[in-house]
Amino acid sequence: MPEPILRVAVPAPLRALFDYLPPRGVVRRRLLPGVRLRVPFGRSERCGVLIELAAESEIEGRRLKRVLAVIDQAPLLANADIDFLRWASRYYQHPIGEVVSNALPVRLRRGEPALALDRAGWRLTAAGAAQDYRSLRRAPRQAALLRMLQRTPQGALPQDQIYLQQGSCRPVLRALQQKGWLAPCRIAPAEAAVRTDDLQQEGPLLNPEQQAALAAVMQRLDGFDAYLLDGVTGSGKTEVYLSLAQKVIALGRQALVLVPEIGLTPQLMRRFRRRLAAPMSVLHSGLSDAERELGWQQARQGLSRLVLGTRSAVFAPLPDLGLIIVDEEHDLSLKQQDGFRFSARDLAVVRAQRHGCPVLLGSATPSLESIRNAREGRYRHLRLMRRAGGAAPPRLDLLDIRSARLEAGVSPPLMSLVTQRLEAGDQVLLFLNRRGYAPVLTCHDCGWVAQCRRCDARMTLHLASQLLWCHHCGAQCPMHRLCPDCGGERLRPLGQGTERLEEALHSCFPGVGIARIDRDSTRRKGSFERLLNAIRNGEYRLLLGTQMLAKGHHFPDVTLVGILDVDQGLYGADYRSAERMAQLIVQVAGRAGRAEKPGRVVIQTRHPEHPLLHKLLRSGFAAFAEEALRERRESELPPYSFQALLRAEAQRQDAPLEFLQQAVQAAASPAEVELWGPVPAPMERRAGRYRTHLLLQAKSRSVLQSFLAGWVPRLPALKSAQRVRWSIDVDPQEMF
Ligand code: ADP
Ligand code: ZN
Ligand code: ZN
Repeated sequence: MPEPILRVAVPAPLRALFDYLPPRGVVRRRLLPGVRLRVPFGRSERCGVLIELAAESEIEGRRLKRVLAVIDQAPLLANADIDFLRWASRYYQHPIGEVVSNALPVRLRRGEPALALDRAGWRLTAAGAAQDYRSLRRAPRQAALLRMLQRTPQGALPQDQIYLQQGSCRPVLRALQQKGWLAPCRIAPAEAAVRTDDLQQEGPLLNPEQQAALAAVMQRLDGFDAYLLDGVTGSGKTEVYLSLAQKVIALGRQALVLVPEIGLTPQLMRRFRRRLAAPMSVLHSGLSDAERELGWQQARQGLSRLVLGTRSAVFAPLPDLGLIIVDEEHDLSLKQQDGFRFSARDLAVVRAQRHGCPVLLGSATPSLESIRNAREGRYRHLRLMRRAGGAAPPRLDLLDIRSARLEAGVSPPLMSLVTQRLEAGDQVLLFLNRRGYAPVLTCHDCGWVAQCRRCDARMTLHLASQLLWCHHCGAQCPMHRLCPDCGGERLRPLGQGTERLEEALHSCFPGVGIARIDRDSTRRKGSFERLLNAIRNGEYRLLLGTQMLAKGHHFPDVTLVGILDVDQGLYGADYRSAERMAQLIVQVAGRAGRAEKPGRVVIQTRHPEHPLLHKLLRSGFAAFAEEALRERRESELPPYSFQALLRAEAQRQDAPLEFLQQAVQAAASPAEVELWGPVPAPMERRAGRYRTHLLLQAKSRSVLQSFLAGWVPRLPALKSAQRVRWSIDVDPQEMF
């Protein structure tokens, strides 16, 4: 029998599989698609994944190289996983090697051997199980440990989990071991993944709206259907997710739950853990490589029955997949904005469709794309109109600040509302989507402004750390004392950031606890959760922060929300600005109030006549979306057309333009695909590189797709391609 050709996905910026010969002396049955291979690549070696076997290659036989080694005993990816990755690679026009590599945990990407799934732990002996822990009155730590183990169903726990709860307690463990009550052991993965420390909790009885939503999905679990769960904040969407996941798991299947950012919603993770008496994997970037790999392996082997993860988890291999849920489906974090630019929401729908299971997209402020899909019957529209706890919807008001004298960005009427609410003992939330002290530092004498040397942008002043900081490229420099142009001393901060707002509020409300929540104040691990807990305990009465505050948290004692800078969003450069701002307003507003304390939302604006803003305030998000969709249809913008953005950047200003012009010439595009540009990006220079765009648009997704399939693979061969960094973004969400 002739040797088969191995077609391998190798992480490299080339849009093709690479052909190799099998390594010598390897039995054929180990050459299964989905195993990792160590392959020679140029002058080095890389770790690739076997995608398929072929009878022949286009490459001449003697030029074919041999695989160096087969790394895995059994495939890491199933055929269905591989097919899905190939689909994603084609749809997003991204090199297959990078797509496959992106889907693996970091250590596995590098070719390291897979981690063993069992962990070191401690088990009760028969004597230990029979011992009354109360007899250890003189050794309270031993008593606590014994009790903890006795309360676990298996009588055993992994050591890291014991340390997590009891602190490092090796001497205590030793003492119990010497008494003959505990023994060290290895813990199998299924046991390790069930967290027994959290008390299992029953959920509330679902209300009729929730029940209807649940029933709709339950009706057909064995085939594809897409659902839009459109429910106001606090309407109990998460309860619907939990019930559905429970049902699907009880049927012996696995559930995949995708969320925008787990770091911002630690309680969500706990809620799932407490409710589901089933092993669960959590996959997100805050974990160590080993933790993430263990979770991934447990999912792949069917040991964990629920996977909760951020966008890359959409690729998690799940042998018994039975349901996909995407929470906050409108959220931009579900789209990867660099490298392999995929939308986890869109891929979730495709995966469910290919696999034949339901997918549920949830949001209080669905994307216009999903609303259109629901309106046209592609998704079933499930609505939760009322807040579950019986809380009234907040009242929204516009506050015209055109002639107001602002104090740190706060107008006098808003300031007096804040005072009233604080005096009544409530909490107040002020939203300002700009961190730092001030967005501009300028010289009062000569007009000098602190600019980033590498970007077309101003440096933000961070007073606490005495730094000027570019939020676009990350460049930092010490704050100037004197004007670098005229030597003057009168440097002035202009505009408001959260740091400055905090300072002003401290002087207006001495003695009131103020919590500032932004990326600067929550940088240290665990600090965000500590702040949230302190807010819930009432230690802080005034909360101020950026959009981190808009995600997933309920602050029931907040009765007033002030949105300070709505205009910046309304008139952004992007046609999606208004949609994003409306989503943000509704999300922030939804964080406040409960039954006996309804919330009020005050939005400061210099454009009180803005029509979409009016629509939102008078008639709510659904009406706003309706109006916004009408505008999009009239101007033939997404979701009524389909776009791709070809970006190019280089240190030399003319190189990106030249590349994109050559790309246009190479296009020979059908009339149905429009090419707009090339034009400079809205911020042309960033991090020292000039950036230029070419926007492509078509009325149909398939027309655009087939055009891209013929065109993008030719781009690397363009003469100027070597002189730029370029990327293609299919269904772009941001235009810069
Ligand atoms: P959402 O995900 O839509 O924001 P949640 O599921 O977090 O809403 O529910 C908001 C609050 O209402 C939570 O505290 C939740 O426990 C509670 N809740 C949800 N559904 C019910 C119900 N059917 N009965 C009582 N309380 C509920
Ligand atoms: Zn000056
Ligand atoms: Zn910069």
